[in-house]
Amino acid sequence: MLFSPLDPATARILVTNDDGINAPGLVSLFEIARALSKDVWVVAPETNQSGAAHSLSLSKPLRAREVSERKWAVDGTPTDCVLFGVRHLMGENPPTLVLSGVNRGTNLADDVTYSGTIAAAMEGCLLGIRSIAMSQSYTHPEPVKWETGEKHGPEVVRRVLAIEWSREALINVNFPDVGPGDVEGMEITRQGQRGFGGHIVERLDPRGTPYYWINYTPTEKDLVPGTDIEAIRRGAISINPLHLDLTHETMRRRLRDAFTRK
Ligand code: MN
Repeated sequence: MLFSPLDPATARILVTNDDGINAPGLVSLFEIARALSKDVWVVAPETNQSGAAHSLSLSKPLRAREVSERKWAVDGTPTDCVLFGVRHLMGENPPTLVLSGVNRGTNLADDVTYSGTIAAAMEGCLLGIRSIAMSQSYTHPEPVKWETGEKHGPEVVRRVLAIEWSREALINVNFPDVGPGDVEGMEITRQGQRGFGGHIVERLDPRGTPYYWINYTPTEKDLVPGTDIEAIRRGAISINPLHLDLTHETMRRRLRDAFTRK
């Protein structure tokens, strides 16, 4: 099952993110979308949903606020936003492209399982729409180089849309932490690996009761050539196709053999 190539000028684009409706990266992504098509809608979470992953609000109502024409804020998760946009707001004439981001910070390797940015693209994919997540690498506390994604984002989208595209795939794009003129090209990558290198911070509230805060700092394992992490560290744009089939094929066969043994 393939999507045929799509002329971006004819695309009906739904823009979303996980950093929230007021995030600067949403402005960047809107600029990227507008460079491709005039038909752009925005539905983004009211509050920062980073780390929300693919969560869906099932036990609370959603409030939707029209910020301006074709721009809505929803007090839910990125997944809620995509569902609201596709199945309600644009329901008569659904989008042909979902763009999510531009996230403040990378979504590489194992990050993709935590990421609300990626999850919005997952939801678009599940709804049968071409979907691309975009994230911008940066070094705290330096300013985020949004101009890098703004410069290269439209071309990345054009090139990805120009090919036949498996309907099971979404695209995870990361921009390196270099200026727009210093990018070392675009690279097709696979998902790398890294581990949880953070720790749990313990503090005391004003009444002396401890509370805890997860300090998420991914560790860096060896930089394996061909992976998303390695491309980003080298200053290239990483373009990594993902899919939602999480089955581990080797283990499936091993288990099947073990369980069917006489
Ligand atoms: Mn985020």
